[in-house]
Amino acid sequence: VNRPRIAVLGFQIECNRFCPPATLHDFQIDAWRMGSDLAAAWSATPSLAPKEMQGFLQAMADTGGCTPVPIAYGCAAPNGPVEDAVFAAFQDALSQQLQAAGPLDGVYCAMHGAAATQSDDDPDGAVLALVRRIVGPQVPIVATFDLHANVSERTIGSLDVFVGYLTNPHIDMYERGVDAAIMLRRMLADEGRSGERLACAMARLPLLVPTIAMLTAPGGGAFADIVAAAAAACRKGQRHASVMGGFPHTDTSKNGITVVATAENRAAAQAIATEIAAAAWARRDDFARPLTSIADAVARAAAAGRDASLPRVILADLGDNPGGGAPATSGLLLQALLQADARDFTLGIVCDAALVAQARAALPGATIKAAFGPSGAPYRFSVSARVLNLSDGRFIGRRAGYTGRVVEMGPCCTLAIEGGTVVVSTWRHAPNDIGFFESQGVDLQRCRSIVLKSRGHFRASFDGLATDQNVIEVDTPGPTSPNLATFQWTHLPRPIHGLDADATWQPAHESGS
Ligand SMILES: [Zn+2]
Repeated sequence: VNRPRIAVLGFQIECNRFCPPATLHDFQIDAWRMGSDLAAAWSATPSLAPKEMQGFLQAMADTGGCTPVPIAYGCAAPNGPVEDAVFAAFQDALSQQLQAAGPLDGVYCAMHGAAATQSDDDPDGAVLALVRRIVGPQVPIVATFDLHANVSERTIGSLDVFVGYLTNPHIDMYERGVDAAIMLRRMLADEGRSGERLACAMARLPLLVPTIAMLTAPGGGAFADIVAAAAAACRKGQRHASVMGGFPHTDTSKNGITVVATAENRAAAQAIATEIAAAAWARRDDFARPLTSIADAVARAAAAGRDASLPRVILADLGDNPGGGAPATSGLLLQALLQADARDFTLGIVCDAALVAQARAALPGATIKAAFGPSGAPYRFSVSARVLNLSDGRFIGRRAGYTGRVVEMGPCCTLAIEGGTVVVSTWRHAPNDIGFFESQGVDLQRCRSIVLKSRGHFRASFDGLATDQNVIEVDTPGPTSPNLATFQWTHLPRPIHGLDADATWQPAHESGS
């Protein structure tokens, strides 16, 4: 039996132009795997491959098998633009591995889609165009993307199949990898039968939406309704449609909500994408979400601490979300909680390697003087803190998109300070799973308020701890603030709805095959 040989690769990072550049170290602590290193990662138990790659490989195995050929995979936590030299090194490695891979029947690419480098706004498109150049026009290329992808024409022009996540918080990565495999399988020639052809097309709107307004749970608002329409279009036939919300803070010319469809030919894909985009444009004024001031949010946390009959609250520190590239060093919410004399709160994850080292030197039970806030910030302050817990920061995710996933926070400490606890890590992570706290000795059930340096992915794991009405989106300053009008944008297409009153859009009348 001649099994199809399928190249497997990926490049995944979400870049925020308002944050410091992503370095090689940022990739090395997450994933920088070339050739056989990548195969070792997907074969490990538990698997170290991203979930969509796991889903893709499993579905290929389940539908007749394939010989996966490991090429290159780079992944880093959200950050600033990637250093040019790092991206060049990745492309070189990918190029070498792909050229040495021998004859291929197909390619699978696990992408994020919101990357940038210091000098290139479209590294995702650059990777996919490079792959297309090397494998040629006949070999089908399928790719999966994060819902926050900023989609370029170069990306669409390089691919046969585009599959985006349909959920936010993201919980469907595995299923989308399966979708990509099923569509690739249809395109593979088999026992004298020539494979089908598929094609993708896009429709981009001049519509900038903060990521807090991209929730997809039913009743989640306009974005949820539009994604539901896209999911329905997927079910109509064996097609796929994705509503890519985009990541505003990448600040590129390809920003704006983009609908991408894959169908039996480009015209059919374009018709689906345009129809869903028109429905999204009609809802363009429905994406505003009210934020809560620091003072009001902390007052609710303090009240919950005083009165056990009040519901527990979760505060989302929107401006300092490492899940969007922020440093996770702001101490503003912590300072406000201390000033309000809040009780029984927990806060995390603060990223401060020096503070962790200080706690490790002091050992559990010791009291240290802990400083919070970025060095040089006028409000930086010190408090007396008792070291409650020290760990290596490694745990297996507990719920939703994190289930079974190995998480490495680097050395960590949990500190008891007046009224609550603070979890501090060496490497940056948005605490989007309850395991981030439970693995550090924090009993979330005993906390009256939970303060998260996260935008919203925590909702899929913390849902048992607070209802939606008790999740408070706090208007904190920082590079991930959803107050989009406060940023100095330099690359966005203008005018764009969300910032400019005069943005317009008309569905293009496409012709073509
Ligand atoms: Zn995302």
